[in-house]
Amino acid sequence: MADLGGEELPQIEESSEQPSTSREEDVEIAEPVKKRAKKEYGDGKRPEEDRLERRLNGILCCTVCLDLPKSAVYQCTNGHLMCAGCFTHLLADARLKDEQASCPGCRTDISRGNCSRNLAVEKAVSELPANCQYCSCQYPRSKLEKHETEECQDRLTNCKYRRIGCQWRGPFHEHKEHEQDCCHPKKSGADITEALDVIDLKHKEELELFNHIFNLLSFEKIGFADIQLRPYRTDEFITRLYYESPRFTVLNQTWVVKARINNNDREPNLTVHRQISYQIILKSKVNTSIDMNFLVMKGPYDDVKLEAAVKRFQFSSDSLETDYYDFPLVTAAECNKLLAARNINLRIFMFQVQK
Ligand SMILES: [Zn+2]
Ligand SMILES: [Zn+2]
Ligand SMILES: [Zn+2]
Ligand SMILES: [Zn+2]
Repeated sequence: MADLGGEELPQIEESSEQPSTSREEDVEIAEPVKKRAKKEYGDGKRPEEDRLERRLNGILCCTVCLDLPKSAVYQCTNGHLMCAGCFTHLLADARLKDEQASCPGCRTDISRGNCSRNLAVEKAVSELPANCQYCSCQYPRSKLEKHETEECQDRLTNCKYRRIGCQWRGPFHEHKEHEQDCCHPKKSGADITEALDVIDLKHKEELELFNHIFNLLSFEKIGFADIQLRPYRTDEFITRLYYESPRFTVLNQTWVVKARINNNDREPNLTVHRQISYQIILKSKVNTSIDMNFLVMKGPYDDVKLEAAVKRFQFSSDSLETDYYDFPLVTAAECNKLLAARNINLRIFMFQVQK
């Protein structure tokens, strides 16, 4: 569907729903349960349960990408599970090849009509523990985001005087102490004006970007596709990880997206500075040049945080590959999140400049 649609408008599907979590109250009311929950999550070592969790991970994971599904889970008529991202891509791949899509587990036909959601699996996954990225304690997946953004004592926090120039950023439990000693509130108006100028400049750039995107949205030729980048290894002596999408069609042309880590640095595992960059490749034969703007965004089934960035490239018969552009990741931690998930789901918009 979306993958094939040249001019289709984005459709927001059920996938954005998170499994509902009404369990919070239950835990709050029943005191013994609360105590038990506290003991279960937070103190790290539980070899017995760890093994159970690992077994459940193996049972509840997607049969295609083997990751735990982050949103909707679909199943074939024989009960094989597929995450929403993989399910859509199986259907889209089959459509591109003009074949009937089939379940990778049992080869029965799959379609939107004969596959159903599996809410029990979705809810079970949301209860499985995951580690907090700051304090490394374990929490149920459904509560992790709240913990990381509102509760974790180690979460990264800015100084409240940031708007007047303080660059301090540190763990939450240290911010009170810092703010007491922070020198910025005592600075002169002149010093503060400098800091405000920097903020103004940033706002101006953001405004220009949004105006640019609004402009692009009124182009005549707009298309988008939801693509899935899958990991591969080069067959060199020292293998390297790279990502590639299946071919997809937007605006009547066939495309492929590739991505690489740290610009193909030999040993990206030795550095903490990780960056993923991507390249867009035109696979169709063209006689005239195509002037194209791109906007890469997170796909509907992914939770990676990307900033908006528009790139422009002129394709022609002897210039079919763009440069490598860095993914506009919000924080460096997002890069590891991308690497940890097996596939990268992206939505890519294309806006063709008319001559
Ligand atoms: Zn999957
Ligand atoms: Zn099956
Ligand atoms: Zn934490
Ligand atoms: Zn400060």
